[in-house]
Amino acid sequence: MPEGQFKDGIAGGRLPTDQYAENFSDLHPPLDHHEALVESDRCYFCYDAPCMNACPTSIDIPLFIRQISTGNPIGSAKTIFDQNILGGMCARVCPTETLCEEVCVREVAEGKPVQIGRLQRYATDVAMAEHKQFYPRAESTGKSVAVVGAGPAGLAAAHRLARHGHEVTILEARPKAGGLNEYGIAAYKSIDNFAQAEVDYVTGIGGIDIQNGKALGRDYQLSDLIRNYDAVFLGMGLGGVNALRAEGEDADGVTNAVEFIAELRQASDLASLPVGRRVVVIGGGMTAIDAAVQSKLLGAEEVTICYRRGQEHMNASEFEQDLAAANGVTIRHWLQPRRVIAENGRVSGIELEYTAMNGDKLAGTGERLTLVADQVFKAIGQSFVPAALNGSGASIELEAGRIKVDAEGRTSLANVWAGGDCIFGGDDLTVSAVAQGRDAAESINRSLTQG
Ligand SMILES: Cc1cc2nc3c(=O)[nH]c(=O)nc-3n(C[C@H](O)[C@H](O)[C@H](O)COP(=O)(O)OP(=O)(O)OC[C@H]3O[C@@H](n4cnc5c(N)ncnc54)[C@H](O)[C@@H]3O)c2cc1C
Ligand code: SF4
Repeated sequence: MPEGQFKDGIAGGRLPTDQYAENFSDLHPPLDHHEALVESDRCYFCYDAPCMNACPTSIDIPLFIRQISTGNPIGSAKTIFDQNILGGMCARVCPTETLCEEVCVREVAEGKPVQIGRLQRYATDVAMAEHKQFYPRAESTGKSVAVVGAGPAGLAAAHRLARHGHEVTILEARPKAGGLNEYGIAAYKSIDNFAQAEVDYVTGIGGIDIQNGKALGRDYQLSDLIRNYDAVFLGMGLGGVNALRAEGEDADGVTNAVEFIAELRQASDLASLPVGRRVVVIGGGMTAIDAAVQSKLLGAEEVTICYRRGQEHMNASEFEQDLAAANGVTIRHWLQPRRVIAENGRVSGIELEYTAMNGDKLAGTGERLTLVADQVFKAIGQSFVPAALNGSGASIELEAGRIKVDAEGRTSLANVWAGGDCIFGGDDLTVSAVAQGRDAAESINRSLTQG
């Protein structure tokens, strides 16, 4: 048994102390000035650029790259922030390989796209290091807006509303702002407390008051907000996690992957964070990859992702799958969990069933496989918890379990808008949450100033 601290039979301190910092260092190190110039020179500055059409926030990518190539990174950052005030985080976490870089003409022609994400990070880092604030606030409108949730959607909405001269109060349940940027994104994608630096940058515009520890449904009701503010924006994300639907899943050591990642992101000492020796992750999306890779980086010996369909069906991009493989994670397909095996209430293994397509339906084949495991992570999707909206005196219409909105982000309740993961029809990406928060803010502004 290796040295280290033990909790419920799971060990921390599996690695030499200095290994943790190395394992959790920047996934894509920043470009330096010279590298940024060279990379920006690769761009063809396409007319009707496909990269721009693929960006959910429609950043003028050829323009910002041209500004870098002409030695104007501050102007470049403004071009990015005009559309996406969280452009710094998006540069770090966007799956660019399935968005702008996938359609870059240099990817299509040569298999080597312009590194748009890294260039975006270069420009935004320069501007943020200089504390450049580009947007003076419009004259006060005297209107106030409540924003529930300080994640990417809420922050983007708040910034745009503050720009238009409205007074914004963000009510956030957690002790820190940032949403999943602070509590969810893999540690190696957002190092050096960047999420909090970005919150400070966004709120630097003024007129945004963030109140932490204020949960809708617990500390106040939606009806209170509707009464006390001119408009409300809901950006609450997804609070629930889907069940495995496997016998015995309540055993100790079976954990929600999002909770594990939140604990990891908030840990002051990664060496003391417990991780299993043999870890099984159930799921096929970004969360599954992040939980698996970070378990490995914490020193787990064997990490296996089990996904119920084939590789081509995984939500995790090819890049993410390769990242997992490069870190020694095994990905197994066509397996669904059936039974958690426990000894004295604690997980010791998991029984899975092989699956196959039966017509256009997925079905178990009956054949089973058992994997030894002392930790199992559930990463099979999150769900919206509408309970926080209850007790409001009015119900909001949902669609497929999430908040229903129209093209402008308006909910079924007057003066209430919503955006980000909590609405129906999103793709659960940071950049899309930013776009929805921004667009809902524009709609709120139109309603408050023209109504
Ligand atoms: C583990 C993980 C890794 C991910 N990695 C990536 C990635 O690499 N790239 C990417 O593009 N996307 C990634 N995503 C998705 C991305 O993080 C989300 O799409 C994005 O954060 C959604 O933003 P949001 O503002 O809608 O919600 P959130 O970021 O979830 O923020 C919602 C906020 O509302 C608060 N809140 C909730 N309920 C209440 C309440 N009742 N009262 C007050 N406040 C409340 C929450 O505390 C939170 O701060 C990842 C998601 C997860 C779970
Ligand atoms: S598609 Fe590629 S080459 Fe064309 S403008 Fe976008 S980044 Fe530049």
